[in-house]
Amino acid sequence: MRQEFALALQQLDGQLTLMEVSNRTGADLEHFQALVHALHASCILEDDSFAQWAAQSPWRRVLNFLGDYIPSNDVQDAFARLSDTEVIVLGVGAVGSWAATELCQSGVGRLVLVDKDTVETSNLNRSLYTQSNVGQYKVDALAQRLQRINPQLVVRPLRQMMSDSDDLAKLLQDAGPASIVINCADSPSVDATSAMVDAACQRAHTAYVIAGGYNLHLSLIGMTVLPGKSACYHCGRLTLENLQGDELVGLRKLARPWRNIGNLAPLAAITASFAANEVIRVALSDSRIPPAMVNRRGEFNFLTSEMHFTSLPPRPECGCIS
Ligand SMILES: [Zn+2]
Repeated sequence: MRQEFALALQQLDGQLTLMEVSNRTGADLEHFQALVHALHASCILEDDSFAQWAAQSPWRRVLNFLGDYIPSNDVQDAFARLSDTEVIVLGVGAVGSWAATELCQSGVGRLVLVDKDTVETSNLNRSLYTQSNVGQYKVDALAQRLQRINPQLVVRPLRQMMSDSDDLAKLLQDAGPASIVINCADSPSVDATSAMVDAACQRAHTAYVIAGGYNLHLSLIGMTVLPGKSACYHCGRLTLENLQGDELVGLRKLARPWRNIGNLAPLAAITASFAANEVIRVALSDSRIPPAMVNRRGEFNFLTSEMHFTSLPPRPECGCIS
């Protein structure tokens, strides 16, 4: 870079105009303007007014993080989209309690918590409840916890189970089109609840994130589905059935009805963190930070600390993308 441009960049203090800097340093104005715009669009330069506004905000670390990806003059609008998005968390057990907490800490301003269960001592090894919550409805205990983190949070605890897609469809009608569903419910299974979520969300054109779960030594990281634009849960199921089909022909699953599957808090938290990141990306609705788990799912392996991703493209026979 020519020396006058380096000098000119050093003079940018939020007070001087580009023309004044150009006059002082001899940097050609037109080229200097192009350079400044390119650096601003790349989030290397930021507006002084943004820096001052962010510095006063309790959300400054989140705002500055967003400012690494989104040019500073757009961060305020992006954060407003995050604050205004209503996120419906289905299931607030191990994964759901972590995911809801991370969303609250990241600036999501409206949460609906859906779960019919009460806190038991056997939940405390992996979820964000304490002994004093035992016997309380999970949604009530979590709502209180989240409001202690952010008193401005609008949180609606629903002591119920979404047993079919019509129940969820009604909830989505109230929530509006900008809402996002995050499926952290694993009863009777993540597959069953994901099929239910898909049916309601496809009808309402609501984006959903399958949080996944944990299975023995794996954290499962589910798909992000943008109805009409990406592979849906059923597309993923079709691809996974094809991948597994050949090796598993003739095998039967061992039935062990009263066995509690093993789990570990860090594995639940990894799944939850991936899902929360995805919800944040969808809520920001900015092409510079698109969701990363569209058309794929992942696994984190506890034994090796490795991530493995499987591509799950849209399947024409599913019919979800017209
Ligand atoms: Zn599909």
